[in-house]
Amino acid sequence: MKKRTILDEAQISRSLTRMSHEILERNKGTEGLVFLGVRTRGEFLADRLQQKVEEIDGVTIPTGTIDITAYRDDKVTDTEALEEAIDIDIPLDDRHVIIVDDVLYTGRTIRAAMDAILNHVRPSKISLAVLIDRGHRELPIRADYVGKNIPTAREEKINVYLEEHDNANEVVISE
Ligand code: 5GP
Ligand code: MG
Repeated sequence: MKKRTILDEAQISRSLTRMSHEILERNKGTEGLVFLGVRTRGEFLADRLQQKVEEIDGVTIPTGTIDITAYRDDKVTDTEALEEAIDIDIPLDDRHVIIVDDVLYTGRTIRAAMDAILNHVRPSKISLAVLIDRGHRELPIRADYVGKNIPTAREEKINVYLEEHDNANEVVISE
């Protein structure tokens, strides 16, 4: 199996720093922003973005998680799981929710995440931030903030390693 590093630790950090600046610039600050990290690795990326924004702007953007396992359109949904999909301590109504995930592929996970959110609350806006966009969309979904675009073959796989979960900080492509 051939492997190639796409982002090392410093590059991941720089990408997230740039994305934080883009988020602040395009939204003219932090007013009303909320990060919602898609579990598992999106959760840690959301925390990192929160920290970067804090370092740049001194403001702590409220950050929570969303678990869409029960929401994928290829799975049966159950109402209780839907209720518990989102974990955040503030109401999301009238907020600008930025969904954060590690890899954007077909777009089905993000569609499910939007479903889960809109089922409960009425945010003023939903945006998407991903560390890697690997292409192959099957739905009309795109990311607003992207760490790196990596054109991939279907059979290739992107491995995202984050210290909080994997004891390393690296993005690798393998075929
Ligand atoms: P999608 O729903 O867009 O097809 O896939 C996105 C979700 O599946 C993300 O939550 C992401 O974590 C995971 N995923 C899809 N493709 C890859 C990949 O190549 N590598 C990794 N690490 N995750 C992927
Ligand atoms: Mg995922």
